[in-house]
Amino acid sequence: MKNLLVVSCVSDDVKAPLSMYILKNFKDDVVAGVAKYASGIDADIMYLLPENEDVEGLNGEARHTNQVSPTLNNPYSVAQVLSGNWPRPMIQDDFVAVFEDKAVQVITPEAAYGIAKGFDEKFVAVNTQDKTEIKKVAVGTAVADICDTSAAKAVLLGGLKGKFVTGPQASELKIQAEEQFSSITVFTSSDCIVDACVQLYNDIYTASCGKCVLCRESTSQFKQIITEMTTGKAKMTDLDMIKEMSEIISYGAYCPFGQGMTKPITSAMELFADEFEDHIKRKTCKCGKCYKAAELYYIDPDECIGCGDCIDACPEDAIEGKDGFIHMIDQDLCEQCGKCVSACDEGCIKTATKLPKLPKKKTKVGKW
Ligand code: SF4
Ligand code: SF4
Ligand code: SF4
Repeated sequence: MKNLLVVSCVSDDVKAPLSMYILKNFKDDVVAGVAKYASGIDADIMYLLPENEDVEGLNGEARHTNQVSPTLNNPYSVAQVLSGNWPRPMIQDDFVAVFEDKAVQVITPEAAYGIAKGFDEKFVAVNTQDKTEIKKVAVGTAVADICDTSAAKAVLLGGLKGKFVTGPQASELKIQAEEQFSSITVFTSSDCIVDACVQLYNDIYTASCGKCVLCRESTSQFKQIITEMTTGKAKMTDLDMIKEMSEIISYGAYCPFGQGMTKPITSAMELFADEFEDHIKRKTCKCGKCYKAAELYYIDPDECIGCGDCIDACPEDAIEGKDGFIHMIDQDLCEQCGKCVSACDEGCIKTATKLPKLPKKKTKVGKW
């Protein structure tokens, strides 16, 4: 069977948008590397480009896709997309992906560039909060020479499958020839790590192709739970649950994306345990990023007369109390709908981004 070498220029990793950059800026080298590799396996050449992207002078047919997936380095997933289907990988070693009677093999522009120019240079996307800059660096270059790690609170090495390290840990690292990480994201002291995880797991949830239950459900749950950490609804036991789930996912998910997507949260939880605890237990964000949108509802214990009128107004059964006792809102159950506010004639249900000191047990009115 004839081979088809597909140059996959579709990157799902918003943190490491290297493929199109390399194809556009080093086209001749990529084309030379692709030609060399294709002749070695006697393959026809095809370029798979994101929709609305065109590059002149390629040495093969160009096809476009509006699909964006971390599985588009997998031959079966690429064959599916070329056939008009959803991207779905197949990872058995002996599995041959076929498109138009040709056996599909996949190469990235990064790998093609390496074939043409050697592997003593690498491309790295350096992200700060306001920009992404792609740099070509020599293997052996210190990470500290590529970006400012000296003042970094944390550095994410790699994108959606990346690992958080501290600034000093990043400063000791060098770029290596073998696959290590293709992006570096620097976080300063004003960046909230929990909020950073919310953004990452929004992207990770979107990127999961949904083929396997473990990755599909976990990405959805992680996204929800980490978001809840920034709105006062998460519990400390959620951290243990994420840790336990991550262990299972890391060997049970079907493809490398699913297996690796747990690393950002597990490494962040390990390095920044205090920050997670602040968010969950104390419902505070020292960086001032979280809880802004989350107005937390509470009952002012100095004003509540214990009439109980608010209880029936709450669709979540989040209000506890009995006649003559100060009523309390269970923050784990409260959905911030605000329906209780109008039920209280005393005007003692209030909102705040940070909860004041409140009773933890049933307290008689007037005894607070
Ligand atoms: S691990 Fe995730 S990305 Fe990979 S096949 Fe399963 S659902 Fe798709
Ligand atoms: S804000 Fe809504 S969910 Fe929360 S206590 Fe009031 S009624 Fe219940
Ligand atoms: S309605 Fe107002 S005063 Fe009555 S129990 Fe609820 S919070 Fe307290």
